[in-house]
Amino acid sequence: MARIVIIGGSFGGLTTAFELKRLLGKKAEITLLCDQDKFVFIPSLPWVAMGWRSAEDITLPLMPILERKGITFIHEEAKGVDADSSKVMTETREILYDYLIIATGPYLAFEEVPGLGPEKGHTECIFTLEQAERARKACDKFLEAPGPIVIGSVQGVSCFGPPYEYAFEIDTELRRRKIRHKVPITFVTSEPYIGHFGIGGLGISRRWMEDEFSNRDIKVITNTAVEEIAPDEVRLKNGTKIPFKLAMFAPAMKGVPAVAHLGNPRGFIPVDEHMRHKTHRNIFTVGVAIAILPPEQTPVPIGVPKTGYMTVRMAKTAAHAIAAEISGGVPPKPYEMDVICIMDMGKTAGYMRAKPLLPPRQETTLKKTIFAKWMKIGFERYFLWKMKHGLSKLP
Ligand SMILES: Cc1cc2nc3c(=O)[nH]c(=O)nc-3n(C[C@H](O)[C@H](O)[C@H](O)COP(=O)(O)OP(=O)(O)OC[C@H]3O[C@@H](n4cnc5c(N)ncnc54)[C@H](O)[C@@H]3O)c2cc1C
Repeated sequence: MARIVIIGGSFGGLTTAFELKRLLGKKAEITLLCDQDKFVFIPSLPWVAMGWRSAEDITLPLMPILERKGITFIHEEAKGVDADSSKVMTETREILYDYLIIATGPYLAFEEVPGLGPEKGHTECIFTLEQAERARKACDKFLEAPGPIVIGSVQGVSCFGPPYEYAFEIDTELRRRKIRHKVPITFVTSEPYIGHFGIGGLGISRRWMEDEFSNRDIKVITNTAVEEIAPDEVRLKNGTKIPFKLAMFAPAMKGVPAVAHLGNPRGFIPVDEHMRHKTHRNIFTVGVAIAILPPEQTPVPIGVPKTGYMTVRMAKTAAHAIAAEISGGVPPKPYEMDVICIMDMGKTAGYMRAKPLLPPRQETTLKKTIFAKWMKIGFERYFLWKMKHGLSKLP
């Protein structure tokens, strides 16, 4: 029986675990290791920060949903991977594997900008449930005595969507409370232009975002790096200083320490078209943990986003490749990176599709419509239901 170990219990890890179980049944012993005991539907974290969702609305306990399917769950952090002897180390044990799937997501590198981040710095973040809940409290306090808000992405960021969503949502919330005129909002980004999103733009995304931010009276500063964050002021590398009473910034990402040695200098892991490690052939990596080369060199360095949709596609590809190898079947079609994403814009949303992910592209779609908002809400409910029942075969 093949021993398969998966590190990470989110979009990538859960999907791979359920798919492998479905495809291999008793031919494999599957163990999922995660430092969290619940699945968090991360795309809804901006709504948690706005008070539009609670933690209970968007989480699932991992133990029952995995064990029901015959998958062993270990609630522990992987401390390291010894690829030569095929084992994962935790504080309490060593776990041997025939195949390893790394789905560990990002390490959030707040320390790369002095004063950045909620723990040791002065900015909020919405990338984890704890951060989003904290950001919500900070927002409630801010509303008692409003002032300027700064939102943005520092140098090295690859996940650009959340600051855009947060900007549109807080603008919507302030208008709903009829206090928008008391709050100057500045959007600061390392992208060369607004609507670049780390993927070289998407159709008319630049004009679209410029119009959208102008209509909402949000000042935009692009192509910029942040020098440091003081308690009440963002200091840019070009000398500009922007005061704030509330700031929310996306940090740069790296690979998590336990697996970073298997990757590039930033700890992201290069993979082939079946998500297989280029040197260690029994290791696969999916989701945010993989390395993708940016489409172009930008004046301020930035990375390429890896979305939930992409992560699920990668997880299915890896699972089918492993299952084919164990069962002697035909390997799956390689996953050619593409993306579908819905950006919340407050009362409405933007539907985006790019195929392939990076230019030049065969297909591009951009639409702002209320239907996209309903799709986004529907997708949250659908995905949580799908994971709760382990129905990874569904799209
Ligand atoms: C705020 C926000 C909003 C987003 N919105 C969207 C959206 O609208 N649509 C979309 O498609 N995508 C969206 N994304 C991107 C999407 O969330 C990611 O693509 C997806 O979460 C990646 O899944 P993953 O499994 O690779 O990593 P993650 O979801 O980051 O999960 C990694 C898992 O590994 C665990 N882990 C890490 N290190 C260890 C270790 N050493 N040992 C054990 N376990 C470990 C973590 O606890 C976690 O469970 C958003 C991202 C953010 C941050």
